[in-house]
Amino acid sequence: MGLRLIPFSNTNTAQKTVVRVAEARLPTETGEFRIIGFRSLTSAEEFVALVRGELRPNRPTLVRIHSQCMTGDVFGSLKCDCGRQLEAAMKLIEQEGHGAIVYQQQEGRGIGIINKIRAYALQDEGADTIEANERLGFAADMRSYEQCAEILLELGLRAVRVMSDNPAKIRAIRHAGLHVIERVPLAVETHEFFAGYLKTKKEKMGHLVSVA
Ligand SMILES: [Zn+2]
Repeated sequence: MGLRLIPFSNTNTAQKTVVRVAEARLPTETGEFRIIGFRSLTSAEEFVALVRGELRPNRPTLVRIHSQCMTGDVFGSLKCDCGRQLEAAMKLIEQEGHGAIVYQQQEGRGIGIINKIRAYALQDEGADTIEANERLGFAADMRSYEQCAEILLELGLRAVRVMSDNPAKIRAIRHAGLHVIERVPLAVETHEFFAGYLKTKKEKMGHLVSVA
């Protein structure tokens, strides 16, 4: 197929902490992608990159670090906008003809699916998304994005247009040595069920939430 991935040339001195282990075609309802599996060299974490088209270091490329959300991505939950954001990101990349999504398997902002369900139970009783995590003894957000950013470098990218509302993700991408050309807001339709969740993300977590 037309996809040629540029070999990783290590221009900084940082130690490599992820390794590419498998790659295959992935035709989807949105378009033709390649799916690439990565493993962390420092933990048991696995990552998946969804890549469309040819990635070139000198061309600003649409990217997203998407944090796994089983309830939103798989079941179409209305408690959050994750599934809609993933769909919007895939569509934008398909329209552009090239781009990459790193899918980070850290469910529930890093607390795991069981604890996320427990947090939802607390939300059923009136807690917001942050209060629920804190009442379960977790930080509001347990995720880190360094290795996701490293994967973007490993894919051969150097200049990126980041589809994210999360400043921490953009910082991690910059810190990895990538040039962030712009932030591309993913305007997802707001819905009465997750309007409160978006408000909390914006007011308590510093997300740059933009809704259509
Ligand atoms: Zn979600």
